[in-house]
Order: sequence, then structure tokens, then C-alpha cells
Amino acid sequence: MSSTVITNIAALVTNDPSLGRASPGSGESESGGTSRTSALGLIQNAAVVIDGDRVAWTGESSKAPATDNRVDAGGRAVIPGFVDSHSHLVFAGDRTEEFNARMSGRGYSAGGIRTTVAATRAATDAELEANLVRYLTEALRQGSTTLETKSGYGLTVEDEARALRLASAHTDEVTYLGAHIVSPDYADDPAAYVALVTGEMLDACAPYARWIDVFCEKGAFDGDQARAILTAGRRKGLHPRVHANQLSYGPGVQLAVELDAASADHCTHLTDADVDALANSRTVATLLPGAEFSTRARWPDARRLLDAGVTVALSTDCNPGSSFTSSVPFCIALAVRDMGMTPDEAVWSATEGGARALRRTDIGRIAPGAYADLVVLDAPSHVHLAYRPGVPLVSQVWRRGVREV
Ligand SMILES: [Zn+2]
Repeated sequence: MSSTVITNIAALVTNDPSLGRASPGSGESESGGTSRTSALGLIQNAAVVIDGDRVAWTGESSKAPATDNRVDAGGRAVIPGFVDSHSHLVFAGDRTEEFNARMSGRGYSAGGIRTTVAATRAATDAELEANLVRYLTEALRQGSTTLETKSGYGLTVEDEARALRLASAHTDEVTYLGAHIVSPDYADDPAAYVALVTGEMLDACAPYARWIDVFCEKGAFDGDQARAILTAGRRKGLHPRVHANQLSYGPGVQLAVELDAASADHCTHLTDADVDALANSRTVATLLPGAEFSTRARWPDARRLLDAGVTVALSTDCNPGSSFTSSVPFCIALAVRDMGMTPDEAVWSATEGGARALRRTDIGRIAPGAYADLVVLDAPSHVHLAYRPGVPLVSQVWRRGVREV
């Protein structure tokens, strides 16, 4: 194994709370503290030492130990690779017409998923895998070094298992979402579909997945159905996460907390009791502003969650229907502009926040022992991710100690 130092880093985001430094201008004390902005653990004039696939050392450039190789960051900023903890990348077809219609004045409903289900069932394995790899590569080029992805466009035993088998060849973070919507084949008998999702389909899918998810929403699955689905998954060793409170108020968030789900995703329509439940739990609130952008919906209130002490993650929800972006930097810019997050908070939520939403401690930070997953920005500060929206600032991506971009 060889060692490499990346040196001459103007600003290094470590997410190592022991360093406790916030960005200049963020309003946080330079001497540290316990707030989430200080949790960014910023080091100026910094270096990172990579040994094999892990981070071995971080600190000031002048104190870096000797290594085999040396890379000069040229005064750029370095941040942890983005942890995109919510995407739907096993699909075929696209929904340009639906998007165009919606942006011409028609509302969004969960039913549009059926279009993608039909296209996905009709695709060959090779077509689905090529599409998946295309979007994983696109995400990597934009700095995402970890990506969770889900099934949910097959909705038959064979098609859901196929989606998860293909996904598991490309990522460790695979989620069984047979309960995306009630399959059109069971439109007259949703209870029979829930029985399938919790029975034969679960048996076929569990070997390929780490997580189980359900779209708990009017028009999809109600609270009782969602509880039955998630608890069945748990008995098979899958851990819960929930599409919760996206389009309306409902039981999703409370159910996620009750079942110790790793994440409640969307969290757009929350009561005070929902916010309190999240604040008093280990369940992360994963916000997906690409969905609100692409459906012209009301933004989730990140400020309210952060002020209540909720752990917040930011993710793309990349899918062909309601959020066809693989760009975490775009989501950071939206979160800062429209959801009340500071730039420091948004970058933290897209890295360490995503890691927490996947219950991982080996990614999302640049600290000794963590995987050497990091992004060199073509900018002197991570703040530029929000300050320069839409500009491709990712200039290098390192994953597991190897430069990939
Ligand atoms: Zn989703």
C-alpha cells in the first residue's frame, strides 16, 4: 500500500467535531463549540494523508508527515465525498412529457410511477444495468462517492429481485422498495399486494438488500400497511427507512421513529409532534429539495428541524419522475437559498448527515480511519457550492484512496 499527501488545501472540511471550527462569516465562534456548524471541523492551509483506502492523517500542511506521493491542491477546498442516501436509479424510460405537463400547470400525483414501472418491466437486464451505471457515473463526477439506491419500479417478485440484484453489484447501500406504490396488477386488492410485498417478494429480495422502505402516503400505503411492511422486513434482517410526509401530513414520520428507522425521507409536511419525535430519536430527517423543485411544491423547513435539534441529511432523490437530478451541489444550493440552511449546515448534511442516514461512521468525514472518499473543489471554500450555484466546481473525486475523476 502506498501513501499520498494532498497538500496546499485552502480549506479542508473534515466533519471531525474534535476540530470544532466553523467557516469565517458563519457566525460561529472560531474557538469551537458543539453546534452543527462547528461540527464542520474546518482546517485552513491543510493537508490530508491517504494510506491505502483510508485517511491516515489530517492537519496543517506544514506538519504533514512524509509520504510516497504528493498532490498539490493548488489552494483549493477539499470536502468529504457526498453521501447521497436516497436515489431510485434502477429504471428504464423517462418522463419528459409528464415534467413538461406539470411545468405547464398540472399537479403531481404518485400515479406517474406506473409509467416507469411499465418501461422498467419491458427492459432487459443489460439495459437496466447500463442505465444504472450511467447515473452512478454521473453522480460520481459530481462528487457523490456513496450512493444508496432502491428498487420500486418492478413491483413483481421477479422484477423487484432483478432490480436489487443489479443494484447490489454496484453499491452496498441497497433498499427494497416493493412498497413504492400498489402494483397496478393489484389495483382492486391492495391487501393482496401487501401480502406479496411482505411474503414471497420479500423472500426473493432480502438477500440483495440492506434496507426496506415504504412510500407512506395517501394514494400509496397507509400507516398500518407501512408498519406491516417494515416489520416484516425487519424480521428478515432489513432495517427500515420511510418515504414520509412528502405530499401531505400523515403517520410516516411517527412510524419511522417508532420503528427506529435510520431515516424519514422528505419530511415536507410536519406537525410539531412530528418534529419533536424526530428530535428525540436516532432517525435522521432526509430532505430532498430536488423533488420540491421539480414538482413546484412547498420546501421542507430545514431551519425548523435544525433549531429543534433534529439531525438533517440532504440527498437528491434522483428518479425519472419527481427529481431527475443526480447533483448534490444543486441540492445544497437549494437548501441554502430556500430552506433556511447555512452553507456549513448544508455541506455537513450532504456528507456526515448522509452517512448518519445510512448509519455509517466510515464515510462522510475526512478523519483518520475513515475511507479516503474526498472531493477537491475548484474553489477556495466549500461555501462556493451555494455561492456559485449551477457551476461545476468538482475538480477531483477520490474514492477509497483512488482518484476516480
Ligand atoms: Zn424517493
